[in-house]
Amino acid sequence: MAGTGKFFVGGNWKANGLVGDVKRLVSELNAEQISDDVDVVVAPPFVHLPLVKDSLRPEIQVAAQNAWVGKCGAYTGEVTAEQLVDLDIPWVILGHSERRNIIGESNEFVGQKAEYALSKGLSIIACIGELLEDRQGGHTFDVVFAQLKALADHISDWEKVVVAYEPVWAIGTGVVASPEQAQEVHAGVRQWLTDNVSKDVAAKTRILYGGSVSPKNAQDLAKKEDIDGFLVGGASLKGPDFATICNSVQ
Ligand code: PGA
Repeated sequence: MAGTGKFFVGGNWKANGLVGDVKRLVSELNAEQISDDVDVVVAPPFVHLPLVKDSLRPEIQVAAQNAWVGKCGAYTGEVTAEQLVDLDIPWVILGHSERRNIIGESNEFVGQKAEYALSKGLSIIACIGELLEDRQGGHTFDVVFAQLKALADHISDWEKVVVAYEPVWAIGTGVVASPEQAQEVHAGVRQWLTDNVSKDVAAKTRILYGGSVSPKNAQDLAKKEDIDGFLVGGASLKGPDFATICNSVQ
């Protein structure tokens, strides 16, 4: 890792689990040994946030998987940053590829969400990443930099921002990016931050890799210079696997 903060591992539970499953997962996580040298954050579905917040050991922080772009009001089905802050939820994932590609959130919309969430005091995990067709067409950096620019246009203070590079072709597919493929994009993202934001922000911002991270591949990925952590989907639903990934940095 190159970022100056701690290694960071997020677990994105997506829309998985009923109350019983969530309670089981929380007790698994409470029983695992996880290094103090890692920042660990898990993101349960909205409906399980209070349960997880109240039952998970405090060293593991809690995130929402999304937040509305503005203040409380007539936005059926949405949850606002204020409501998360009111529940003491410190983190939110924004711009996950499933929200970009299934729900249709645009780069600009994700940028606006980032601005609003930060203005309310939340820390954000801002996701970027290209589709398989983008990569095959040689457009990975165009896509990722456009997503990054839309975020940067709305972010003035990067202190509470973590960036997650998640190639869409690697998410939930079992096809993990090779450490070299991931490193290449992470280095590009850091260079973009140097050129377009500042050297200081580039040095300090943690850049996570996400997409089929598992206990088997985490150690090799974590060795790469610009990989400062992971955002984990499927493997975060099993306490022991997630703990192994959290402890993968040497
Ligand atoms: P995956 O998901 O680990 O199941 O590939 C990663 C993510 O969507 O954040």
